[in-house]
Amino acid sequence: MASIFTKIIRGELPCYKVAENETHIAFLDINPVAEGHTLIIPKEEIDYLFDLPDTLLADTILFAKKVALAIDNALGPVRTGVVLDGREVPHAHIHLVPIYSDTQSVSLGRKLDIPGEIMQEIANKIAAEVNL
Ligand code: AMP
Repeated sequence: MASIFTKIIRGELPCYKVAENETHIAFLDINPVAEGHTLIIPKEEIDYLFDLPDTLLADTILFAKKVALAIDNALGPVRTGVVLDGREVPHAHIHLVPIYSDTQSVSLGRKLDIPGEIMQEIANKIAAEVNL
């Protein structure tokens, strides 16, 4: 069965899209731990990030870099952090978590309740800064 991320990639489920090219997509995590928490996803459905072929893994990191710099420009965090977990959705992905203060946790357990219209505004702001 297709992963939830593949369904989003196919347009079968909605998302707050931030960036997309032929091989990758980025959209906001629906359970954000910070404003602008974004997922970076290779379209090819492979469960474990470190099972990606080298070239695809490198491209995934480079795609993440472009989106992270867009988050930095759009939202002005101190920096954007990276979290790798992957136990919930079996489709490789990287979490980009903007860090707004030195005391902020990037733990995936801490979820914010951000209304849908604000999520869309955040996605639009980041998308406007993405240079693929
Ligand atoms: P993990 O597999 O542990 O790295 O976590 C998967 C992440 O995907 C979680 O942070 C979820 O909130 C997120 N997630 C699950 N379904 C969706 C969805 N439909 N749209 C956006 N994010 C999602």
